[in-house]
Amino acid sequence: MRHILIKCIIILSLLFPTVLLPAEEKELIVPKGGNLSTMLRNEEIPGQQIVEVTNALSVHYNLKHIYPNQKILIKVDDDPERRLMELRLSADFDKDNVVRYNGYAYESYPEMLSLKLVPVAAEGSIESSFYNDMAAAGVAGSKIMELFRIFSFDIDFQRDIRKGDLFKVLYYDFVKDDGTVAKHGPLAFASLKTNFSDVNLYGFVTDSNEYDYYSAEGKSVRKTLLKTPVANARISSSYGMRVNPIYGYESFHKGLDFAAPLNTPILASGSGTVELAGWFDIYGNCIILRHSNGYKTLYGHMNAFGKGIKKGVRVKQGQVIGYIGTTGMSTGPHLHYEVILNDVKINPASVKSPPERNLTKAELERFNKRKSEIDTIFDNLKKTD
Ligand SMILES: [Zn+2]
Repeated sequence: MRHILIKCIIILSLLFPTVLLPAEEKELIVPKGGNLSTMLRNEEIPGQQIVEVTNALSVHYNLKHIYPNQKILIKVDDDPERRLMELRLSADFDKDNVVRYNGYAYESYPEMLSLKLVPVAAEGSIESSFYNDMAAAGVAGSKIMELFRIFSFDIDFQRDIRKGDLFKVLYYDFVKDDGTVAKHGPLAFASLKTNFSDVNLYGFVTDSNEYDYYSAEGKSVRKTLLKTPVANARISSSYGMRVNPIYGYESFHKGLDFAAPLNTPILASGSGTVELAGWFDIYGNCIILRHSNGYKTLYGHMNAFGKGIKKGVRVKQGQVIGYIGTTGMSTGPHLHYEVILNDVKINPASVKSPPERNLTKAELERFNKRKSEIDTIFDNLKKTD
């Protein structure tokens, strides 16, 4: 009886070689400096098969791109031949490259994984640090770094964050069938309430298919420094070598000069904190503002300071901080303006402005719908916690 059964299996396995024989499954982890051929040889796969498998795989995948800790799943038949039936390696978070033995030869193809988008909501307060408390609330590390970046347009992390500040986060995970997270998806919503501000940001895809973050009112959060901190001014001296107008010798001008009538308002080119508001050497009446991301701006030769402007006060982008004058070493009414990045004076004209654009009317309508959707999703997830 047993003899007949074995015969049957042999006959059937010749007819349907991929289906019937029991296969052993194993997950291989690519070691440092490892390559696929060696790994398969270690699994006692015959050399001819290794050649065929790697040839088939290289149609879709550059085997030089195999990296340490990459997972490779293999299925090997139990028979004495050690037939490699299937090999699967991850090509991207949503795609595997698969090589399969069809009974005659190896076929290779990319296979899209079926991933579910699963919302993740977190809420909490800052007790030790922004990073630690977010992580404790279940926010993935890569998402915390992203939150740092998008909040930094509005929040000065060195000064504004206090114990008890409240945060809310909603993002999506791409989850595989086995429940593991293939990738953390985009942030849908982030909120941070401090003593100084209440920042609520919503992720939104524009009609031109760009994903960015917007305030609850639909305003882009990518605020950089204003190009011109004085309305209706002309640049009277640019950044670079010039003949010093007072001493006559050549020197490097480390700012921009804007000529404008006496007492023309000067605007804060970015939100920030007043670091200096007073007499400062050749700059006369001078203001230095500290912004996020290591930026400072300096405004010299002012005739007067704006109302309430003094050291330690917070200002908003576009707020009047002073008035055009000719105090200090100056030949006529103008603003001497500097941009300082990490304590180095840089060319103000070189400050990169990411495209900041307002949503169109149609986009704003879509944004408002999306926003209430996100709010509902967040509330429901927090209710079921
Ligand atoms: Zn100047």
